[in-house]
Amino acid sequence: SIDEIQAIGHRAVHGGEEFAGSVIVTEKVIETMKNLIPLAPLHNPANIMGMEICQELMPNVPNVAVFDTAFHQTMPDYAYMYPLPYEQYSRNGVRKYGFHGTSHYYVSNEASKMLNKDNSKVIVCHLGNGSSICAVQDGKSVDTSMGLSPLEGLVMGTRSGDLDPAVLAYLMEKKEMSAEQLVNYLNKSSGLLGISGISSDLREIIEASTNGDEKALLAIDMKCNRIKKYICSYAGILGGVDAICFTAGIGENADLIREKVCTGLEFMGVSLDKNKNKVRNSDNREINTGDSKTKIFIIPTNEELVIAKDTYELTKA
Ligand code: AMP
Repeated sequence: SIDEIQAIGHRAVHGGEEFAGSVIVTEKVIETMKNLIPLAPLHNPANIMGMEICQELMPNVPNVAVFDTAFHQTMPDYAYMYPLPYEQYSRNGVRKYGFHGTSHYYVSNEASKMLNKDNSKVIVCHLGNGSSICAVQDGKSVDTSMGLSPLEGLVMGTRSGDLDPAVLAYLMEKKEMSAEQLVNYLNKSSGLLGISGISSDLREIIEASTNGDEKALLAIDMKCNRIKKYICSYAGILGGVDAICFTAGIGENADLIREKVCTGLEFMGVSLDKNKNKVRNSDNREINTGDSKTKIFIIPTNEELVIAKDTYELTKA
């Protein structure tokens, strides 16, 4: 019965600089989220609609908003600023916000428990259709690959990730695209889908590559190469790494991707146990060899649990 519901937790995408943690949804919170719509035009309106409908249907039940950006609010300014004229930040809020924060929080927290170490240096690779990497020091996000929007960073299912910004002007001129068309092109027609021409689903791309499709293999290699670049740059920022964690659809299931990413990182103490890497189950697990200086973990993400716990904590009184 709907009467049994005591509180509702919502995943909310963009909390800007206004929300560094979860909050009970009030009129003011909804107003603030509306002001952030220009930063997340695809997500915040739907998130707000969900909250307002719950308020209408269950007027006496509290709603809690858990923001995807909140975990990254601990990034230092030199990590989140873009090297544009400063007024782009101060006037227009142009900076790196980061996403998948609930997942990066959950996975890095589980990794710290597995390491049994308070002062840990962890790199979380959230590899799903949308993918991002996060450097986590002592439980705090210090850098992440997604930016103002979830378009920056890794090669994703349909999103390009990092590009030379000059490519954008070139495409707008060459293909006569409007800004909106270009953003759609980069969000929906690029990444694994754009390169392979087959699918955004990695399973189909892997299958095609094993049948000799060269573009499918290229897409896989591009994805892995960029993950590796981010891992190495974050190891530099952290001054070492205790554990590299893989999570989400690809991170948890695609042994091929984990193997390609870890191969070549032996110089920084990463040694993958290829047999452990192939074992399939849904537990948190360690897949490095016994003598690997850096741990390699698979940690199935659980954003729903974080949302439920935050909702309980904020509404239990
Ligand atoms: P997510 O967005 O976290 O649901 O992840 C979706 C992605 O995970 C898709 O690209 C799937 O192809 C990929 N994925 C799921 N299972 C597997 C698998 N067994 N092998 C390779 N990729 C997988």
